[in-house]
Amino acid sequence: MVGAACALYAARAGLDVIVVDRGPMAGGTTGAGEGNLLVSDKEPGPELELALLSGRLWADLAEEVGDAIEYERKGGLVVAAGPDGLEALEKFATGQRAAGVEAVRVDADRLRELEPRLAPGLAGGVLYPQDAQVMPTLAAARLVRASGARLVTGAAVTGVLRGGGGAVRGVRTGLGEIHAPYVVNAAGTWGGELAALAGVHLPVLPRRGFVLVTEPLPRMVRHKVYAADYVADVASDSAALQTSPVVEGTAAGPVLIGATRERVGFDRSLSLPALRALAAGATRLFPFLERVRAMRTYFGFRPYLPDHLPAIGPDPRVPGLFHACGHEGAGIGLSTGTGQLIAQMLAREAPALEPAPFRPDRFPAPGSPPDSEEAT
Ligand SMILES: Cc1cc2nc3c(=O)[nH]c(=O)nc-3n(C[C@H](O)[C@H](O)[C@H](O)COP(=O)(O)OP(=O)(O)OC[C@H]3O[C@@H](n4cnc5c(N)ncnc54)[C@H](O)[C@@H]3O)c2cc1C
Repeated sequence: MVGAACALYAARAGLDVIVVDRGPMAGGTTGAGEGNLLVSDKEPGPELELALLSGRLWADLAEEVGDAIEYERKGGLVVAAGPDGLEALEKFATGQRAAGVEAVRVDADRLRELEPRLAPGLAGGVLYPQDAQVMPTLAAARLVRASGARLVTGAAVTGVLRGGGGAVRGVRTGLGEIHAPYVVNAAGTWGGELAALAGVHLPVLPRRGFVLVTEPLPRMVRHKVYAADYVADVASDSAALQTSPVVEGTAAGPVLIGATRERVGFDRSLSLPALRALAAGATRLFPFLERVRAMRTYFGFRPYLPDHLPAIGPDPRVPGLFHACGHEGAGIGLSTGTGQLIAQMLAREAPALEPAPFRPDRFPAPGSPPDSEEAT
């Protein structure tokens, strides 16, 4: 998804673009997650600014391509179980409003007008009308097609070619060399491996997530609904399992219950404790789910960087190398803004956002002294 968005905006900036992937279209994390475009879970700061920019760009793209990416601005509803939780949620929303987010307080007695099947007894919530969604696989494919870029699939990048002064001059792939003055590393969870091929350190780690999918139902959940603890789970640095679910109905019928978070490397084994916890959390929000069957589950590995911000921009250590990876659990949402920023930097235009927080060289290499220039 991120590579597709970079391709689209770079092509629109007048550049010739080749998209290279070792697998098929959207065969990485993009094809293994959900398509929430959320502002509701982001605190004021660079990630929220990128989410707001991206949200505007998604809305523009949805006008262009119509239903083809299944864009739906259904809104997010965050609920609190008790008064303390509601106070914390309202405080969080106040900060977000100041940063440009629409956040509408919903009193307890109005919650069930918005979501008739919510559990009784909740203290209240906040409605975020800007929260939307797309179907990630379709969106990635549509954006690459709209870019007019050449797409080379089944071609693993095995080396980054360097010329005079160490500048990038293309990539080596299993299908031969591709020459270009700029290379954008949009390899998601494998972005650290690609960076290493160019000799630079970028500590992208996998953060596993499971999604539960129910049998098809009439539309019984209208918004994206989640409990206030979800925001703390997203921001957590712990490797341990976090399971606060986001529950939403889909046009096709199944209710999506996503997603767990844990750092267990690239462990592909099914985790029943994770799925049980997800189901239990969803059932606490929507008791009717107790009687609904889970039809399947799937999982993917989010590209996690230690400060929860993606790496976006040129790498000062390797002229011509750019990074656009490490978006963790928000890479679908943040892809359009990322693509626009990359295109602006490639075309040497002023970026729409201050790029400094996303600098790819902000992580000290293992063994380098903490006060070295790299660490600043
Ligand atoms: C369960 C789950 C739920 C999620 N829900 C959401 C959500 O609701 N909203 C949201 O915004 N995000 C969500 N995410 C996160 C989102 O899916 C990711 O942030 C996003 O897909 C990352 O996109 P990407 O393009 O950076 O990476 P990818 O989609 O992984 O793309 C990277 C590509 O690089 C290719 N590649 C890697 N190495 C090489 C190489 N050496 N040579 C050639 N090609 C290579 C791979 O084949 C892959 O296609 C979720 C993730 C999970 C796991």
